[in-house]
Amino acid sequence: MKKVLLLLVLLLLLGAGVFVFRHNNAVVEPPQMNETTIPPTLRDVIARADSTVIPAFSLDYLRGRFDPATHPDFTKVAPEFTDRDGTYYLRKDAYAAFLAMHAAAAKDGVQLKVISATRNFDRQKSIWEAKWTGERLLEGKEKAPQVYPDPQARALAILRWSSMPGTSRHHWGTDMDLNQLNNDYFATGQGLAEYQWLTAHAPTYGFCQPYTAKGLARPAGYNEEKWHWSYEPIARQLTDQARRLLTDQEIDGFLGAETAPTIGVVEKYVLGVSTACKGG
Ligand SMILES: [Zn+2]
Repeated sequence: MKKVLLLLVLLLLLGAGVFVFRHNNAVVEPPQMNETTIPPTLRDVIARADSTVIPAFSLDYLRGRFDPATHPDFTKVAPEFTDRDGTYYLRKDAYAAFLAMHAAAAKDGVQLKVISATRNFDRQKSIWEAKWTGERLLEGKEKAPQVYPDPQARALAILRWSSMPGTSRHHWGTDMDLNQLNNDYFATGQGLAEYQWLTAHAPTYGFCQPYTAKGLARPAGYNEEKWHWSYEPIARQLTDQARRLLTDQEIDGFLGAETAPTIGVVEKYVLGVSTACKGG
């Protein structure tokens, strides 16, 4: 009889154990997401860019070796959002975020205008080589081959404001220049108001400024560019991919490309961006 009782007690205890085990494994409802002020369409775009496993960008994509006019992920920027000086293309995700930012800026009385967007390898090569050969003057005054006969010095002089073909963030469709290519413009009056609006609000829409003032946080790379903004959710993935895949030896196919390894162009210029644009 005692044995039977003991068995019953044991069975009861086991049952209780199974109950506790089941209870602990019950499906817990996920916490409710906080609503934000970002419009739903933009929030969806950012969430998708953050969470979807996007197929790794190829070396050719990183180096701008494709035509944005025929690439399925790209779209034309509508003329009313540009300086109407050319046809501009952006990635569709970056464009959706830009449109949301543009609308919010307009409500605050700030007009944002795309003055440059995607430039592929061939376009960058023609800019670079025109400067390399002296056909186009550096900062409107220096004929590069005369002022800088040494190839490395010449490349560094061009790199003050122009990327080597294959290394530009403008290849990626995530980056754009806004309003004026001139830091002085953004230092006073209307330009200052525009820059202050961007620094305060652009991160809400997924944008970061890659070329901030040089200093401890950004010791190398291009000079400060207050007009250049990156769509960070995608640009960060491209920056990570560049860190993994891109070497100076693969920066080739244009006049002066032999200077890329001695300068360390990938480390200093491609990866030499602000902390905000590097991501976590
Ligand atoms: Zn730019």
